[in-house]
Amino acid sequence: MNAFKKCALFTAGVVFMLVIAAALASMFFQGFALMPVAIALGVAGVIAVIAAAAVWLLGERYSTQAQRLHTYLDEMLTGNGKNIQPVLGFNLQQVPAKIESALESLRAQVKTLTNQKRELDVKVRICEAERQHLEAILNTITDGVVVTDAFNEIALANGSAARVLDFNLTESQKRPIDHVLHDPRLIKLIKDTREAGDACLRRNVEHQIGHNGDARTFQVTLSCVAPEAGKADGGKSAEGVAGVVTVLHDVTKDKEIAEMKSDFVSSVSHELRTPLSSIKAYMEMLVDGEANDEQTRADFYNIVQGETNRLSRLIDNILSISRIESGVTKVQRENIALPQIVREVVDIMLPQARAKDIELVEKPSPLYFQVFADRDMILQATLNLVGNAIKYTPNGGKVTIEIEVDEHAREVVLSVIDTGVGIPEEDVPRLFEKFFRVSNNNQMAKGTGLGLNLVKHVIETVHGGRVHVTSQVGTGSTFNFSLPIADK
Ligand code: ADP
Repeated sequence: MNAFKKCALFTAGVVFMLVIAAALASMFFQGFALMPVAIALGVAGVIAVIAAAAVWLLGERYSTQAQRLHTYLDEMLTGNGKNIQPVLGFNLQQVPAKIESALESLRAQVKTLTNQKRELDVKVRICEAERQHLEAILNTITDGVVVTDAFNEIALANGSAARVLDFNLTESQKRPIDHVLHDPRLIKLIKDTREAGDACLRRNVEHQIGHNGDARTFQVTLSCVAPEAGKADGGKSAEGVAGVVTVLHDVTKDKEIAEMKSDFVSSVSHELRTPLSSIKAYMEMLVDGEANDEQTRADFYNIVQGETNRLSRLIDNILSISRIESGVTKVQRENIALPQIVREVVDIMLPQARAKDIELVEKPSPLYFQVFADRDMILQATLNLVGNAIKYTPNGGKVTIEIEVDEHAREVVLSVIDTGVGIPEEDVPRLFEKFFRVSNNNQMAKGTGLGLNLVKHVIETVHGGRVHVTSQVGTGSTFNFSLPIADK
């Protein structure tokens, strides 16, 4: 029995009892004078009983309908739908089919959306992978690259750019360039390029960037990204350009080399012209018969010979370096004793040393240890070092050549020690660069800045040895090279 029925039964019982009690009480206390009231109460009691019965029946009916609704929902959920009875007079037979079709279309929509989500997930993953790939490529580029979007925010950048422009790469993403970069001119260049709104625009600007205390020169190339390429931002930048790609190429070295080359060309032309003019002048005097006596003619011939030798040395140096650099030089190795090379060098250089009143000392050394090397090349390298020592030592100075053997390191070390002008400390690291000349010493002697470069190539590139220098301005310099002792 449900609560509805219980309530109806209880209410009817209570009303009936009250009515009977009231009728009996009135008959007992008032006699039959109150008979009409008792009858009215009796009728009321009967109505109450009938009402209770009606409520009972209604409850019964609703309970059945509720039961049917319950069954219907069960049928619906199990997807059966065969046992469906009418509920509250409505025939629900059609409802499951309709709900089912509505559910079917919802299910189809859910399926479509799920598939779309899956596709988008895949696309997002592909995009992420592509982005990482792009970043990896960008990071292999030695030039600095900064990609900014239509809102002047950093979209991409590489490690080189972060290093050169001094910003934190991981924190730069999606941040305005004004907050990330500290270079007002570069910021303006990027903004101006984007605002120009010309997708075909490409600007090349030379720009100096102070980096770790020294200013370096960069070739900055700014290119606009066409709007189609920027669709990834949701098409917000449909007009103008979608962003700017800024590439920073360090041209400091190129500029230095270009400067050196032009210095070299003028220096070589000068070096070539000087002996040539001298040769030309003396030859003209000889041809014109201006050298009357035998002694004068001999002196002129000597000068011409000396100048010719100088010319050929210069040309030899240039050719030797370029051959070693291009790897086409022929190396003829043999076991050689360095003291013998030193002897030859002293013989060649003695006239020059004497001309400047320089004492050329050859320290005695053991002949026993030999090196496996190209004789002519080692002779050339030693000549260059001794020649420099004489050139950059004032008159009356001393140049010493000594050979030591480091048996422990299995090396023979040849040193050329002079009492010359020395080399400023800041110039020492650049001494072996091609065409480099110490500006302080330029007045002392003419040169091309090729001699030491050739020494380095011969000793280190060709023979796997080492060249070393120590120097003090006003006191002198020591240049030495070491070569491995030859296996017997
Ligand atoms: P260069 O033809 O100018 O002598 P090198 O390559 O032989 O070219 O030498 C490069 C520069 O190094 C020279 O210009 C000179 O200033 C400096 N230098 C070389 N050797 C010495 C030395 N023994 N003492 C002082 N300066 C030297």
